[in-house]
Amino acid sequence: MRKTIFITGGAGFIGSHIIEHYESECDIVIYDDLSTGKESNIPQKPNIKFIKGDIRNRGELTAAMENADIVFHLAAEISVAASMERPIETEEINAIGTINVLEAMKKNNVKTIVYASSAAVYGENPECPKRTDMLPEPISPYAITKLSGEHYIRMYGRTSGIKGIITRFFNVFGERQDPASPYAAAVPIFIRKALSGAEINVHGDGEQTRDFIYVKDLVTYLDALSRTDGGTFNIGYGSFTTINSIVARITALTDSKSRVAHTPPRAGDIKF
Ligand code: NAD
Repeated sequence: MRKTIFITGGAGFIGSHIIEHYESECDIVIYDDLSTGKESNIPQKPNIKFIKGDIRNRGELTAAMENADIVFHLAAEISVAASMERPIETEEINAIGTINVLEAMKKNNVKTIVYASSAAVYGENPECPKRTDMLPEPISPYAITKLSGEHYIRMYGRTSGIKGIITRFFNVFGERQDPASPYAAAVPIFIRKALSGAEINVHGDGEQTRDFIYVKDLVTYLDALSRTDGGTFNIGYGSFTTINSIVARITALTDSKSRVAHTPPRAGDIKF
């Protein structure tokens, strides 16, 4: 039987690749308030329905989820920096928003959730690669609320029979990642600046490391994990790259003359 996939945050960067993965074989419902996502990320096709809505609105969310078979929950305040500035709003969107999604699933008898958590939950622990049995030590409202969402999913798993696929994304990059938003990610900003010759700002000494994963690989893993019995998973390559080496690689590939300037480290950013 044809499945209906419900994607919160489906108009965003990663959501748009999840749509691309499933659009030929499934019906898709996207629920997104377009706070950072774009309607132009959603293909106009009869099997794809877009509902503009906020996950903080329980009534609209519950009504939108009718007929869903599986939920991919990506809607979130995604920026560590914004979460430091607005911790209460971050709690409302990321933590309470996730409870709203779980309650809507209960009401609509939806039994599977794939949740976009983050490597940020590991915090300052320098041990690499991160393992899911390490103690989470979140240091920003973003990471705390992502971890809170994980705990709620495990709890609903125990009490309501909802299968939770909790996936901790490392740093994702790829097509449609917006370099223009005020809290854009490093890779698209560096590429844009390198192409225009503008100065590239690196927060701190640039020796902080990240595990960059290409978005299509991430979506392949999400699809495979969605068919497991659930659990908590890291999604990265298990390797790490310094920000300085990413900048060097991008400036070399674009033959850029951009100058690199170092600015103070950002509050809430993790080192490794
Ligand atoms: P994105 O900003 O492109 O996507 C987030 C989407 O959620 C946007 O379309 C936005 O409009 C929507 N949204 C935000 N608040 C909402 C609300 N209250 N109600 C409904 N919709 C709302 O970001 P992305 O990079 O595609 O991130 C998707 C998910 O993956 C997020 O949960 C993020 O925390 C997680 N994640 C991303 C990365 C990464 O490197 N991009 C790393 C770790 C985790």
